[in-house]
Amino acid sequence: MQKHPCHSTTSVTFPSSPSTNAASEPEPKKPKMDYSASLKIRAILSDEKINPIPLAKVYITKIMDRRESKNLITRLPPLPSYLSHLKRIRMKDNELYIVLAPLNPDDAKEEILQSLVEQKDIYKGIQLGGSSVEVVDVSARPPLSRSQFDEVAPLWPVTFNPDKILEKLLMENSGFSEGEINEIGSNVEHLMKTSEGGEALPACLIYDPVSKEILICTNGLSNDVLPLRHAVTMAVDSVAQLQGGSPLQKTEVHNFLLPVDTVPKAVSSRPRREHSDYLCTGLDVYLSHEPCLMCTCTLLHSRANRVFFVNKTKFGALESVCKFHCLPNINHRFSVFHIELS
Ligand SMILES: [Zn+2]
Repeated sequence: MQKHPCHSTTSVTFPSSPSTNAASEPEPKKPKMDYSASLKIRAILSDEKINPIPLAKVYITKIMDRRESKNLITRLPPLPSYLSHLKRIRMKDNELYIVLAPLNPDDAKEEILQSLVEQKDIYKGIQLGGSSVEVVDVSARPPLSRSQFDEVAPLWPVTFNPDKILEKLLMENSGFSEGEINEIGSNVEHLMKTSEGGEALPACLIYDPVSKEILICTNGLSNDVLPLRHAVTMAVDSVAQLQGGSPLQKTEVHNFLLPVDTVPKAVSSRPRREHSDYLCTGLDVYLSHEPCLMCTCTLLHSRANRVFFVNKTKFGALESVCKFHCLPNINHRFSVFHIELS
């Protein structure tokens, strides 16, 4: 059973916006939303995992003497390492074909052919004369997903090692089970109610998927002002409180600038499980709005486990401007999911 400590819900102290309705006219109640049923969860993956694979061009020709096939593979100069995913020989229409070399746009085909003909011993058994050498498109890099493999394999055979984790992330709702979707939906409901309660201010919820406990759910200031008061910064600071820290709470401007109560009152004190744990090791972070670059760095440095966000933002660093978590040189990997509410 998921614990939702009611005292972790924030209380907004901003004055209400002037209403155009007469005070006596109650606003119509919004129909209750079933968050779990309306979620669409999409993993934010690197472009190379989801985009079509670029193509390269290579020279191929027919093997006339099949007895030479095995020898050819050892005799021919190896393909460059960036094409090592290509199978060297393929069968098509009951004929064997072999990749001779990559096409360099600066090389004239006639010169290439001439150089091959001059090396008869190496290319013994291959048809090299006339128009027998063709230029064909092949995959320029190894396919990462099954759909990429299905796309390029008909061009020329390639090696492919299926990635079970990636295939799951590419499934509907990123492969989350019904139970997981219910858990995510419950957290999103809590998050969005906090955000809407804060006059649509961005909200951040930090959740421990092991203890099933919300550690903090707080609003922050709008993403275009005061980065130190963004929801992520304040929520991570509150997690620090649970672990005996909290640099922000000690600043003089803290009380003046905070629009909300960010004091975490989670049941658990959430001691770090391991000495090497960071503030958010193993914790999931839910965001009503895609975070800015600084908040994304906060998520990285605090070692968040998974990040779920609802609304894309103009300067969001998880998909809109860049996919920060997919950059090659960052020192921590975390999964990111976009949640669409229909
Ligand atoms: Zn931010």
